[in-house]
Amino acid sequence: MKKILLTICTVLLMSSSAFAAEEPFTDKFILWTPHRDELIDEYTIKHYGMICREITPQAVVVHWTAFGTLESVWKYFYAEEMPDDEGRLNVASQFIVDRDGTTWRLMPETNFARHIIGYNHCAIGIENVGGYDGREDLTEAQLAANVRLIKYLHAKYPTIKYVFGHYQQDAARASGLFIEHVPDYYAIKTDPGKIFMSGLREQLEEDGLIFYDP
Ligand SMILES: [Zn+2]
Repeated sequence: MKKILLTICTVLLMSSSAFAAEEPFTDKFILWTPHRDELIDEYTIKHYGMICREITPQAVVVHWTAFGTLESVWKYFYAEEMPDDEGRLNVASQFIVDRDGTTWRLMPETNFARHIIGYNHCAIGIENVGGYDGREDLTEAQLAANVRLIKYLHAKYPTIKYVFGHYQQDAARASGLFIEHVPDYYAIKTDPGKIFMSGLREQLEEDGLIFYDP
């Protein structure tokens, strides 16, 4: 079974190799040594029952950071180990979008990143700077940047079918994508807010992407 899952995880990547569209982001990669791969192996075996260093993107998950600036969030994600988790894999996302819409890519977007319980093996994560104290304060520029980025990703990876906010993690189980092997491993989330997800749905649903009720 493990072997089969690993095959599914990596083999579909070949379909994207010929893609050439203008990238709506700047690369600013986080630290990636063989140690991060080891931590990813440990995490994905424990939580997904397979090794999954590369993903076949089937969903895009949208977040807000609830802290910091573009630079400070990037610095936090830069470390391979989570400071308060005794050397386990740090959280990260493939993209961060600043309040003015500036978008950074933190790693090749099919690399594994820990940003949402249950879906990291198949989801690209976009963090948006904002949401301090749970306020729905993401900007119009961030909405436009997310629309642009998701359109780009959808064109590059036709395997992407779903777009959901972190707070929609339960509704998204209807996709059948959810996997979590550790019982009761769960965190309640509110990001990136209903207003932002409504805005994305309005502008992206006609592209054939599946959304959940905000
Ligand atoms: Zn989140």
